[in-house]
Amino acid sequence: MSRYLNPRYAAFEVYTPGEQPRDMQYVKLNTNESPYPAAPGVAEAVAREAGGDGAGGRLQLYSDPECAELRDALAARYGVKRENVYVSNGSDDILNFAFMAFAGNGVRAFFPDISYGFYKVFAELNGVEYTQVPLKPDFRLDPADYMGLNGFIAIANPNAPTGLAISRKDVEYILKWNPDRVVLIDEAYVDFGAESCLPLVREYDNLLVVQTFSKSRSMAGARLGFAIAQKTLIDDLNRIKYSTNPYNVNRMTLAAGVAALQNDAWNTENCRRIIETRGRAKQALEALGFEVLPSSANFLFARSDRIGGGELYRALKQRGVLVRHFEAPRIADYNRITVGTPEQMDVLLAKIKEILGA
Ligand SMILES: *Cc1c(COP(=O)(O)O)cnc(C)c1O
Repeated sequence: MSRYLNPRYAAFEVYTPGEQPRDMQYVKLNTNESPYPAAPGVAEAVAREAGGDGAGGRLQLYSDPECAELRDALAARYGVKRENVYVSNGSDDILNFAFMAFAGNGVRAFFPDISYGFYKVFAELNGVEYTQVPLKPDFRLDPADYMGLNGFIAIANPNAPTGLAISRKDVEYILKWNPDRVVLIDEAYVDFGAESCLPLVREYDNLLVVQTFSKSRSMAGARLGFAIAQKTLIDDLNRIKYSTNPYNVNRMTLAAGVAALQNDAWNTENCRRIIETRGRAKQALEALGFEVLPSSANFLFARSDRIGGGELYRALKQRGVLVRHFEAPRIADYNRITVGTPEQMDVLLAKIKEILGA
């Protein structure tokens, strides 16, 4: 840190993304990327924008700040209007904007003690006071803990890194008990088997649903997230976007998003395959004596009495398999394992057997 840095940004710990080491080829099960490529048509759409089709492309022109075509495609896909859709350069951007827009200035933020690490970072970045609401000992979220908090609430559903989901009824309970504040539901993993609360948007003007193309649509590298809410909340996000970077989604990504939605059956099929692989991998881990939380996401959260979480993480890395280990108190025994292809999971299981046998 330089001595010039505003102390406001010097005081907190920044978010640590999953490692992307380049010393060897790993079986990469640590950042919840899809093991499958993006939908057919996505690469061509990107190439057209960039001129890769030989026609010159359009990179000299700014991208559409309204993101009209993509928002219309999302609106059609989810049965809302363009005015209900906001798109951004990855959903992390939306989470940050939501903390800026709906918390602070006396409004406290609330989120689970074990959840997506970025909530805490965004709270600190924006000078928002926050409370981490403890999950139950079995990592379940009890909606009653969110009764009448009168603050900005952020909940990942399914939660990360546990993979546990809450029902739409639970979300509705939290919305009803906090009518004067925004409730953000981060549905980054919802397509892997959780109940989306999108149908509640019509009824609740304080609900902000955030999703991403990074996981279920195999586009982590394209950086594309979106939010769906009533027009008033979308307008608030746009206030911040137009005061930061009106062209926050580039041409190639806009085109990629439209193409991905034109072939959404491809993505649905990949989610189905991942759910199937998840079930088999969970059983196989349990057969090896692991305790595996019931996952509604594209990862498994698992621990074993036979080996510590950090120890297993390091032994797997040595053997070319990357999983994600968190040092945090309640979860240090666990590893978060992305569900890859069946072949990748076979490698993981073989290496675990080797490690436990040794
Ligand atoms: C991956 C993830 C995101 C954000 O992903 P983007 O790539 O920025 O869209 C948001 N929330 C949770 C819980 C995630 O795991």
